Amino acid sequence: MFIIIKTPEEIALLREGGKHLARIVRAVAERVVVGISTKSLDEYAHKLISDYGDTPAFLNYKPDGAPHPFPSTACISINEEVVHGIPNENHIIADGDIVTIDIGLNHSGCFTDHAITVIAGTTSSPEAKKLVEDTQIALMRGIEAIHSGSTVGDIGYAIQTFVEGSGPPLVVGEVVPSDGTGGVRMGQRGYGIVRGYAGHGVGRYIHEDPFIMNEGKKGSGPKLVPGMVIAIEPMLTLGTHKTKVLSDGYTVVTTDKSLSAHFEHTVLITENGYEILTKE
Ligand code: MG
Repeated sequence: MFIIIKTPEEIALLREGGKHLARIVRAVAERVVVGISTKSLDEYAHKLISDYGDTPAFLNYKPDGAPHPFPSTACISINEEVVHGIPNENHIIADGDIVTIDIGLNHSGCFTDHAITVIAGTTSSPEAKKLVEDTQIALMRGIEAIHSGSTVGDIGYAIQTFVEGSGPPLVVGEVVPSDGTGGVRMGQRGYGIVRGYAGHGVGRYIHEDPFIMNEGKKGSGPKLVPGMVIAIEPMLTLGTHKTKVLSDGYTVVTTDKSLSAHFEHTVLITENGYEILTKE
């Protein structure tokens, strides 16, 4: 594991890029309306990035093990799609769709990563709305776990503890029974915490060490030190934690087709805590 500590110059650029990215993701999310294609949302994202003089980090990026480079600017993932959905002109947003916009940005060689989930139109179940709200809260709980002396495991612990819930359960819909493979399954809130995909170091590259799990033990893992920059990104589902990759080589879906939501911020570790960089 090699954790890159960013220089003050890099941090200044990451702060600028993070601001751009927050505005871009919000603007694209505001265009999520019934009848629009995900391809058209992607083109809009590309235009906004170009307008800033920045470049998309995901376009033509080839992760280890991927069959071919990622073909688009944004990852747009709908309903049971968890992450890495590929925009497509034939994929038209329908009323009630849960739509995640996830974009990586390269601003003068410094990378930030940010995602939000919104619901299209007016028809959506209370369970879907609550899933989206709670995934955003889970992200904030993970971020708020960062203070002087905390570790990567503290972030996962905070997210997991929130998702599992304590005290009176806030169950939405039915809690699906454990599938018996061990570890976190369904929290008292009724959600699955997606396995195998998680946050990461970011800044000089789009993916750096360390891996930031969405579950974990308090005090475990690498220590968070000032100058580290990490992307925290809980992905929750209304069912299983299990996923599979579709034949396009990228789109990750829940194996039980349950709905999924995803929020992500790029966060700087500071002397006393944290600073969210992907913020307007
Ligand atoms: Mg990310």
